[in-house]
Amino acid sequence: MSLETESRANVLAATGISASRLAALADRVDADGSETIEVRAPATDTAVGAVPDCDGSDVERAVDRARAAQSSWAETAMDERREIVARFGDLVLNHRAELLDILQLETGKSRRHAVEEVVDVALTCSYYADRGDAAFREERRRGAIPPATTARVTYEPVGVVGAISPWNYPLTLSLTDVLPALIAGNSVVLKPDEKTPYTALALADLLERAGLPDGCFEIVTGRGATVGPALIDRVDYISFTGSTETGRLVAEQAGRNLIGCSLELGGKNPLLVLDDADIEEAARGAVQACFSNAGQLCLAAERVYVADSIHDEFVEAFVAATRDLTLGTGFDYEDDVGSLIDGDQLERVERHVEDARERGATVLTGGERRPDVGPFCYEPTILTDLEPEATAACEETFGPVVSVESVPNVATAIERANDSEYGLNASVWTGDRERGVAVAREIDCGTVCVNDAYVSGWAAVDAPMGGFGDSGLGRRHGPEGIKRYLESRTIATSRTGPLDVPPGVPTAWYARGMFALARLQQRLPTVASVTRRLRDAGF
Ligand code: NAD
Repeated sequence: MSLETESRANVLAATGISASRLAALADRVDADGSETIEVRAPATDTAVGAVPDCDGSDVERAVDRARAAQSSWAETAMDERREIVARFGDLVLNHRAELLDILQLETGKSRRHAVEEVVDVALTCSYYADRGDAAFREERRRGAIPPATTARVTYEPVGVVGAISPWNYPLTLSLTDVLPALIAGNSVVLKPDEKTPYTALALADLLERAGLPDGCFEIVTGRGATVGPALIDRVDYISFTGSTETGRLVAEQAGRNLIGCSLELGGKNPLLVLDDADIEEAARGAVQACFSNAGQLCLAAERVYVADSIHDEFVEAFVAATRDLTLGTGFDYEDDVGSLIDGDQLERVERHVEDARERGATVLTGGERRPDVGPFCYEPTILTDLEPEATAACEETFGPVVSVESVPNVATAIERANDSEYGLNASVWTGDRERGVAVAREIDCGTVCVNDAYVSGWAAVDAPMGGFGDSGLGRRHGPEGIKRYLESRTIATSRTGPLDVPPGVPTAWYARGMFALARLQQRLPTVASVTRRLRDAGF
């Protein structure tokens, strides 16, 4: 047995996943060619399997199947769609052991962080099964000249939705944009990242078992630069999660094709510790904010601003809590932090830390790769005295590296937090939640969590999630997460025939009548605002 084969057998034996199960998952992909892409386990840097390297014609067939399935799916009774999504949520929980194994196998993340994904998908299913249809129920709106005319809005699925997902949270980020598209009656073609296709394929398997009709959820595996553009050219909407750089390409192509797109992109997220924060709690929160999934989390904090009155005490607690983290690649619950995804990511993290060091930053803890633990493991790292021009200060590291800076007051903390092209997530720590909310209102980010790292924002599935600035366009979750996948149709009716000069009425009279009507309409908002003021005053 070659070393590679032995290593593959060992890493698979550490999970409950067999080579034949992975091969069966890969077989789900309909591809003409024989080219494949190797999938490697970051824990040992071993090839564990391969999936088809799809090309444009494979994408075309997948979209054709999705298109053929979509109209009858859209006509399927809402209760049935709801039941399928709810059943799928159950299946995800029932098959959690396999899903956790596959997730760990292809991402190298620790099991505790893999758990977040499984739980998240189950909760997202419950939300959309329960509340999803509220976003596309027919609505009455004010007509042009009530009651002579009426207006109502109906919603239709856009058709075939394309989804492109990244490798860092392959379960959550494949499903969180797919479920609302499905519940709204669209079919979906998903392109998972080439490093993490098995998780998506396992989900397709479970969706099929939950009763989703053939063709409603298709997967094309392959390279981003080939499959991505081929998909965007054929679908009616594209939902993209990944880097800002790729997001710009996706937006350009979607713009040319005049299809809608949502872009969930990178971040350089700030965490603020105010002077009245509980220091131990804030330190614990900062550890979660910075090192979850080894920092490979779009919502992870990479910049910490601490009130100078508590700076030293906070840093001591934060460093101590970080040193307590265990780094490992086991397929159990022993390790706190797992591996980075691959050598490129490791090189990026090392480059950011080395550049920071060369520019005079102090490494308070961490700062080294740990080949003794795993080929791509890197220590949770806290920097201070980071130069503003340092790469780690300007670019997203997307790894277990954070810098801490002392600030004289809240205004400076907010100013520093907002000094970024990104605006995805922020975290504020304070002894006074209302003060935290007031600070949150000043921060230019799509989500701000007070006294929490990111979970309370992400897991509020009923509330929109997305980014300001370079962090993206559009919102996922909540009704907003469904509305993006719908075409609205306004149906207006007239009780009095055409809204035009009535027969026999001189045009000048008609014009006078219209001006008078316009005046009346101008006053109507005034009536509405009086009512609002009375209501606000408690009447
Ligand atoms: P990436 O942009 O390189 O890849 C993401 C996906 O896009 C992959 O499936 C990839 O195959 C595909 N892709 C690559 N080139 C493409 C092209 N030309 N056209 C269409 N698709 C293409 O991202 P990455 O570096 O692998 O992922 C990490 C980044 O994703 C980080 O910046 C992170 O912050 C961001 N991210 C954002 C969120 C969010 O919700 N905002 C979530 C997770 C990750």
